[in-house]
Amino acid sequence: MRKIEHIGIAVKDLDLANKTYKAVLGAEHYKTEIVESEGVSTSFFKIGESKIELLAATNPDSPISKFIEKRGEGIHHMAFYVDDIQSEIERLKKEGFRLLNDIPKPGADNKIVAFMHPKDANGVLVELCQEK
Ligand code: ZN
Repeated sequence: MRKIEHIGIAVKDLDLANKTYKAVLGAEHYKTEIVESEGVSTSFFKIGESKIELLAATNPDSPISKFIEKRGEGIHHMAFYVDDIQSEIERLKKEGFRLLNDIPKPGADNKIVAFMHPKDANGVLVELCQEK
């Protein structure tokens, strides 16, 4: 894995969170994007090499709705940039980690993504991402 690409934060109200993070970071978000297949509406901030992804649910069955119900708003996942997502998936599986999806799927911000089971990483949902 090359670097932390972004940190994902689950929020209830994207517009309100955009205002909050604009004030925190001193920068405007540079894009918003809905990923309908995941039931999320996202917005991205960039600070130096790092990004913050705010995630709000688009429907009550969204994984983000369920996360907020259980744990409240807060850090939802950590995303690592990889050069070859398929070989990273195979490497992690060989190490005994469980992947939530073996086949990379489309994510926000022009990426393909795969997630590791949070129970296998001390409660952290790990995302692998690669440029499409
Ligand atoms: Zn993400």
